[in-house]
Amino acid sequence: MRKLLLMTWVTLVATSFTSCAGKQGTEVSIEKTSCLSSRSFTTIKGTPGITMSTSNCQDYRFKEAKIRKAIMLFVEDYSEEFNIPELEVWNLISNLSIEVSILPRTVDGVFDVKGNFLKKDVLVSGLALNPNSIWVEVKTSQIWSSSLAHELVHIIIWRTQGVHGDPDHEGKQFSGWTSKHTDFLKKFKLRLIDLEI
Ligand SMILES: [Zn+2]
Repeated sequence: MRKLLLMTWVTLVATSFTSCAGKQGTEVSIEKTSCLSSRSFTTIKGTPGITMSTSNCQDYRFKEAKIRKAIMLFVEDYSEEFNIPELEVWNLISNLSIEVSILPRTVDGVFDVKGNFLKKDVLVSGLALNPNSIWVEVKTSQIWSSSLAHELVHIIIWRTQGVHGDPDHEGKQFSGWTSKHTDFLKKFKLRLIDLEI
């Protein structure tokens, strides 16, 4: 486990240094944590009670300043795109528990963004577990490549509808997620890339 994490760290660092074609990838938004030497649970300052924890004792998480910035930008952009006051968006993600890990998870049965059901064991990079908690894989050295914003959209839908977070996205079985949400996430990802988050 330790070896795997170390190797992954080396890869991530190498990636960030070899990416010289543009400004993307020059800033690292993640950090290594160990429950033995540092806190693995954080209440993200400047947010309404949103917390971040790691799945494992030895793991990686997003730097607090970076995830705070990502969430603040998300609220700003979501509010503008869907014409909802920022305060209401904050309210819809308040007290959310965000669990992160460098290790992906496998689930039995999941929908893709178009609503196609993928049976078997599928590797996922994020999950909306219930209306109060999400799990997000730390995929690269920056947050834009993670499913953080995607899972925040599930939570907003879940808390707005009260029954589910629309697991089949644009599919017809569950309602809530529209192509506007998918487009919003594409645009938002570009914004984070531009800001090196
Ligand atoms: Zn999803």
